[in-house]
Amino acid sequence: MSSPTPAGKPFPHLRYCVRCCIPETQEGIVFDELGVCQACQSAEQKIHIDWTEREQDLRQTLEAAKASAGNNYDCIIPISGGKDSTFQLHVLTKVYGMKPLAVTFSHNWYSETGWYNLQNSLEQFNVDHIMFTPNRSLINRIAKHSLAGIGDSCWHCHAGVGSFPLQAAVRFNIPLLVWGESIAESSGRASYKNPVRKFDREYFTKVSAKLRPDQMVREDLSERDLYPFNVPSAEDCERVGVYGIHLGDYIFWDDERQTEFVRDVYGWRETQIEGSYKRYKSAECIMPGVHDLTCYMKRGYGRATFHASVDVRAGLLSRDEAWQLIGDTESKRPEGLDYYLKITGMSEEEFLSIMEGHKRPELKNVVIPIHPKTEPNEERILPYPQQLIEKFRNGDK
Ligand SMILES: [Zn+2]
Repeated sequence: MSSPTPAGKPFPHLRYCVRCCIPETQEGIVFDELGVCQACQSAEQKIHIDWTEREQDLRQTLEAAKASAGNNYDCIIPISGGKDSTFQLHVLTKVYGMKPLAVTFSHNWYSETGWYNLQNSLEQFNVDHIMFTPNRSLINRIAKHSLAGIGDSCWHCHAGVGSFPLQAAVRFNIPLLVWGESIAESSGRASYKNPVRKFDREYFTKVSAKLRPDQMVREDLSERDLYPFNVPSAEDCERVGVYGIHLGDYIFWDDERQTEFVRDVYGWRETQIEGSYKRYKSAECIMPGVHDLTCYMKRGYGRATFHASVDVRAGLLSRDEAWQLIGDTESKRPEGLDYYLKITGMSEEEFLSIMEGHKRPELKNVVIPIHPKTEPNEERILPYPQQLIEKFRNGDK
């Protein structure tokens, strides 16, 4: 990991948080008068919170949901099979004795490890499960328009993760949804002292999908194609009384320890993830490398910066070590880009030129370096269902 010249800020002309490695180009970033970002402030508050009191609030909320559920499910738990959802299932079923209905919006880009983790969690926790999977052609068309539309490859996932659990809540008449990590944990959009508690059915549209389904309509994408991505109406949500909580607002959240726990106790598996040095975030998907490359090209930072900043806040890395890791990881061209270009029919030049148009003003006229990747990814960058089909069609050689 050592290099002759110490790594520093990737783009020295940008303003960075004085504690972590997040630059001013992060959406919604707020610095205090000392130049500390909100995520860093939130990480400090987290240590001083009375978590015992918060846990009592959680217990009350869950008990109330149980008491009013009758024979219906106590709550909905949106799961991907990631380490957060496995930990959420543990907390809800084993600690609080809830009977959740697990729901998954499948981005249909499952990695092999991710597919195993999802199936394994269903077996480990014995929960009933519903999954919605948009068809391959639809995903490919959306992925193509997503880049120009919102500046990343993943509109269908942002929108589906926001809409499908709510649709399930309305259809099955289950008011409570339980998510995992707090919005205050590292997003910089809230802090532990000012958590986002109020339920907002359009939250995902605002923060990640950016465009509503009707705004994604194109020549080869009809309103009918996009119908599954709509959130239920405000009236429907009100009728059912839909509300959501994040476990991370009530129990002390520690990614590293939770990962060890779900790995050792439930057999959850990590995998290599393009664009980062951590092996447990977005492990279920083959495309985070492309998603994070787009962030890097727009904003000058990607997933390694984000994760390294979390580790700096937790005292696991020094800032210098973090810059080093960022320099070693972030600017690598992901293999996922080949898959993305294939499914969208786009050339690499088109991809680069669309991304150039999304660049933040602070980075205009700045070259964002992209380096070739030197080692192939540990697992194949091909959706696992397609790997299975290939295996049985070609014979298992
Ligand atoms: Zn910071």
